Amino acid sequence: MKGRLVLSLILVLSVKFLAHQQSIHQYLVRTSYQLIVRQLGHDIPEMAEHIGFNETGTAQFIPGGLVVIGAHREDEEDIVFYYNTPNETSTHFWEPDDGDGSKFKNSGGATFENAYYKASLLMYGGYELRVPYAGSQIIEVYEAPTNLMQFYKDRRIFYKGYYNSIGQFINRNYWDIVSPEFRDKVVWEILGRICHLLGDMTVPAHVHNDEYKILNR
Ligand SMILES: [Zn+2]
Repeated sequence: MKGRLVLSLILVLSVKFLAHQQSIHQYLVRTSYQLIVRQLGHDIPEMAEHIGFNETGTAQFIPGGLVVIGAHREDEEDIVFYYNTPNETSTHFWEPDDGDGSKFKNSGGATFENAYYKASLLMYGGYELRVPYAGSQIIEVYEAPTNLMQFYKDRRIFYKGYYNSIGQFINRNYWDIVSPEFRDKVVWEILGRICHLLGDMTVPAHVHNDEYKILNR
């Protein structure tokens, strides 16, 4: 009994102090995949290829393509609401007792969308998906897919246009079928970002809107 108590205390404390670190988010992704494999009794080759180890990327979707990159980068930039530093992780809280759409209020009195809502948008759309072009200033802009799993299968997405190198927006507005490479770059990183938010929601401080215990993560 005593041993069990100590063990649960260690678990609670380690989750509390470590879960907000990016390497822990990557660890959660890797071990969750192992759990899926154990449960299924076999690998999922397409997924195994895109889990990754401790890769981080350098910006959103550069290079993307791995779940661990999304799990890391969700603390680096906000690709849904585009809140800037110091608020890039202010959407990582959710007090479920206050309802699905409840907001997080930080110590400065500003309010932010909750982590559950953000994870839903990443999965079911309702935001502008911006994909920068590596090595250039060009940023392509899409309507985020209304179903990430469907997009994975049909690669169909609404292309709104792009920002050119001097920041002007060029309208395009048509449905596009993207390449499997582009699809992989985007989908696996987004999945990692969703995993990050789910991970945060297992941390007591995150679900009690307690920003002091998060140390800005
Ligand atoms: Zn976080």
